[in-house]
Amino acid sequence: MKAVVKTAPGTGHVELLDLKEPSPKRNQVKMEIFSCGICGTDLHVYNDTFRNYPPVILGHEFVGRVIEEGADIKGTTDRSARYAVLGANTVTCGHCDYCRSGEFMFCPDRRGMGHGVNGAFTRYACMRPNQLFRLNDELPEEAGTLVEPLAAAVHAVLEIATLRPNDIALVSGPGPIGLLCSLVLIQEGIPTIVAGTSKDAERLSLIKTLGAAAIVNVEKDDLMECVRETTQGLGVDIAFEVSGAAASAKACLEAVRPLGQYIQVGHFGNDISLPFDHVAFKQLRVLGSVGYTAKTWTRSMDLLKRGLNPVPLITHRFPISQWKKGFDLFESGEAIKVLLTPEV
Ligand SMILES: [Zn+2]
Ligand SMILES: [Zn+2]
Repeated sequence: MKAVVKTAPGTGHVELLDLKEPSPKRNQVKMEIFSCGICGTDLHVYNDTFRNYPPVILGHEFVGRVIEEGADIKGTTDRSARYAVLGANTVTCGHCDYCRSGEFMFCPDRRGMGHGVNGAFTRYACMRPNQLFRLNDELPEEAGTLVEPLAAAVHAVLEIATLRPNDIALVSGPGPIGLLCSLVLIQEGIPTIVAGTSKDAERLSLIKTLGAAAIVNVEKDDLMECVRETTQGLGVDIAFEVSGAAASAKACLEAVRPLGQYIQVGHFGNDISLPFDHVAFKQLRVLGSVGYTAKTWTRSMDLLKRGLNPVPLITHRFPISQWKKGFDLFESGEAIKVLLTPEV
């Protein structure tokens, strides 16, 4: 089977290789992959800015069907169902405080699909049945590729932040996670301002059509003026920093009202300078959000069932042999979500 593989440590070293099909262990299912989305993490593995264990197949945002069950788990899955897969907890120690409380993201031994163990930019992959999340029959198949980034957004918006009626939110950074955070907020009835730069023009106009209260290109318009107009001069109740840019973090600290919440979702990749006195003077609650738990996945499946539709975020689809084109389009910001589909 063709697969997009990180072959060696360091920057780059990603190639399309022909690999042997995997066989499921006694406690695993074998899945045929329909499609898999390109994520920022895949670019980080490409650039070696996220830990990785080559040789490893990239890709972790995927949907597919079960075609084989290991000897110990016969009859546990439905062959006619389409499943999204929680690949982030493939390897964990199982006994640290984090594992015991379901917070596997922080297990020191954690290895997820696509960076620590083989992922899904290929045709077949094996996993435990408890990593499968059945897609509601009414949902389009491609929605399954967005469950993983949606779970990251649901974690930030519904589990880390505390939403109250009449809150107004700011999402700064309309990448896939920022747009999904916005969709969750919109679905919860929270008026949401989404801010980005000129590079994000398409993403901003998309989220406007999907229900954002206001969009701001910070290179052209005054974000604080928009915040004042939308909040009657009070400031937003919750700011989500999702771009990982210092200017965006500064704007979020300025836009949030006293006693408000600042949620850090983006990654800066280096030390930044901030007007951090806002935190004390406005008595802000500053919280970070990373990843999700298995419970967040159940919650995300539920939101999809209740009508949240993330599929408009998928802008491009390529066969995996064109993975580099997909990576480049995603990195340039031209694409929002790019799906790769397997080839024989
Ligand atoms: Zn991802
Ligand atoms: Zn652990």
